[in-house]
Amino acid sequence: MPLSLDDDVRFLKHVGPARARDFEKLGVRTIRDLMFTFPRDMSDRSSIFTIAEAPENQPISLVVTPVSVSEKVVRRGQRRGRGGTRLTITTFEMTDESGGLLEAVWFNQSWLKDRLHGVRLALHGKAARDGKRLRMDHPQYEVVPDDAPLDSLNVGRIVPIYPMTGSLNQAAWRRAMAYALDTRLDLLDDPLPETLLESKRFPDLRSAVRAMHFPDDSRQWHNARERLAWEESLYLQLALLAARAHLKHDLPGHAFRLGPELDNRIRHLFPFKLTAAQDRAVREIARDMTSPLPMCRLLQGDVGSGKTAVALYAALAAVANRAQVCVMAPTGLLARQHYDTFSQYLENSPNARVRLGLLISGMTRTERQLALTRLKNGAIDILAATHAAISEGVEFNNLGLAVIDEQHKFGVAQRNLLVQKGVRPDLLVMTATPIPRSLALSAYGDLDLSVINQMPPGRKPVKTLLFSRREAGKGWRLVRDELARGRQGFVVCPLVKENADLDLQSAEEACRDLSEGELKEYRLGLLHGRMKRPEQQRILDQFRTGKLDAIVSTIVIEVGVDIPNSTVMAVLSAERFGLAQLHQLRGRVGRGREQGYFLMFSDFRQGESGERLAALLSTANGFEIAEADLGIRGPGDLAGDRQHGLPPLRIVDLVRDIDIIADARETARKTLADDPGLTRRDHIPVHRELVRVYGKQWDRLGMG
Ligand code: ADP
Ligand code: MG
Repeated sequence: MPLSLDDDVRFLKHVGPARARDFEKLGVRTIRDLMFTFPRDMSDRSSIFTIAEAPENQPISLVVTPVSVSEKVVRRGQRRGRGGTRLTITTFEMTDESGGLLEAVWFNQSWLKDRLHGVRLALHGKAARDGKRLRMDHPQYEVVPDDAPLDSLNVGRIVPIYPMTGSLNQAAWRRAMAYALDTRLDLLDDPLPETLLESKRFPDLRSAVRAMHFPDDSRQWHNARERLAWEESLYLQLALLAARAHLKHDLPGHAFRLGPELDNRIRHLFPFKLTAAQDRAVREIARDMTSPLPMCRLLQGDVGSGKTAVALYAALAAVANRAQVCVMAPTGLLARQHYDTFSQYLENSPNARVRLGLLISGMTRTERQLALTRLKNGAIDILAATHAAISEGVEFNNLGLAVIDEQHKFGVAQRNLLVQKGVRPDLLVMTATPIPRSLALSAYGDLDLSVINQMPPGRKPVKTLLFSRREAGKGWRLVRDELARGRQGFVVCPLVKENADLDLQSAEEACRDLSEGELKEYRLGLLHGRMKRPEQQRILDQFRTGKLDAIVSTIVIEVGVDIPNSTVMAVLSAERFGLAQLHQLRGRVGRGREQGYFLMFSDFRQGESGERLAALLSTANGFEIAEADLGIRGPGDLAGDRQHGLPPLRIVDLVRDIDIIADARETARKTLADDPGLTRRDHIPVHRELVRVYGKQWDRLGMG
């Protein structure tokens, strides 16, 4: 039988059924899997020293021969001669051509006495002088042939460190890998065309794979990694861009007409001039909406940056073209707030005939039925809604624009359900959770991106302060000062157990404590997800109309509540919240012209929680916060929000590899523009690889 990359690893020399099972636990079944399981780390053991010249306290390699061995047994942690653990100490005296002496010491590995007797050894570890002797504790070792030149997998080179499990120690990994590469690497074909390799100065696939495991030097390893990260990014970008192209070209959507006259009319509805960033976003959106291909755009901007105005612009453009608009938000509160905001803007319009509608849970049956009928008849132009909009039985007359607010609260599936309520409507998704550019290009790469990176004028940055329990009094004094000046505030309590009853209890307790203590002169209202929606709305209305000074709540108010007079927010046990959540909360205060204050109460200064709080103190910039979040949490979490079903990235590092990703995206874009089906001769291997990596998704696009 000819050798193949698809052979089971069990057929490799040095790998039996037991090791094969351990490999399988790591997802390695075939020899190809093995080759593409790259080390989790590299250890530089390339400098070999003699005993006489060995430096102390740094990792070194030596080639030595044992001279003598001794063993003693001690008890550790014993009391009055009883108990304690037995420890066997095996000490070899080693020498080498320099004539120096080295003590190599192992604990509880008595069997080494026989194993290492009279053989030449390569050792790796840190040496230290113990009196006159040089001594190395628990070195890694490898038996090397007597007179053959040193050709070792474990010393005298940069060695790979693999994930260990069961019988798979590092030596076993390296042996299996070296054997696999020696026997099968030649079977590996490079999907990237030679011209590309030349222009990017990338190594070919075989050299790259070998260098990932056994590089000659660190430069070779870096080049290999760069090539493989680029290639991985290329497949991802091809998949994302092709998916989008497929969506766009299948059927044309709405090509809206949006001339200067309409543009002017809409802009006049706003009581302010759009910021330069809003203006840019509006123009990008207008370009998409006037094109026959459906818009697929992500609008990103910090809380308070003015996304709602931009969304309204898009909505009115669609309505002027006799299409319906749905604005879907994650909570009823937020949906109603969109409804209210839109009505306020439209009041300014002398001859607006825009009909608004609301669809959220908690409406009476009659209210709901009426809304559904009006929607179907086309008697509603703009519907503000929750998930209720995507339930069965909701029919639009002519949905031309779908807007999704706080899109990270929705899955891709929900997004698609909304889009399917129309015929290829334009899609605008909005998020106040800034996404680092690398993620925007990868996890969100099927969307075009507009960014509002500028706040409306006259806004003072919110002051962020952190109080330990000991300093809490100072914090509450600041809250009282604000309330005494007629401003309003929020106190946010963390969720306790994701159990609404317990959470309610803790918020109730906090509310009671505060109303009898630190905030006893003020009118407090309790707001909680457990409460019925009309009750929530009643509390919010009281707050809005100034009948309450402060609201004590759980995170239900995380998104959207916009009350310009609220200038202070206090977050209890701030360490319990995520970085993005805290940043969102902070955006709720200081939305008017007054100075806003964001107070975090927490005793945590160390660890991940400490890092998060420190990040909030150090920057108000949402993008920096997002980068910090990515750094602290790692990309897995964030990308996981997407439920994209894309395979995990194995080589690309979303934090460090932004340039690689951007470059690969550009190549992907050009490639698909030239050859949308990847049918050209030099693209066929890339196409084949794409099908291998993205199998199902690729088939679904009809490109498999
Ligand atoms: P977002 O939806 O991004 O959180 P909003 O659209 O709710 O932000 O805007 C936040 C506040 O800023 C609102 O009170 C809004 O009226 C105001 N605003 C928006 N755009 C501007 C602007 N260009 N100039 C002045 N104020 C603005
Ligand atoms: Mg908003």
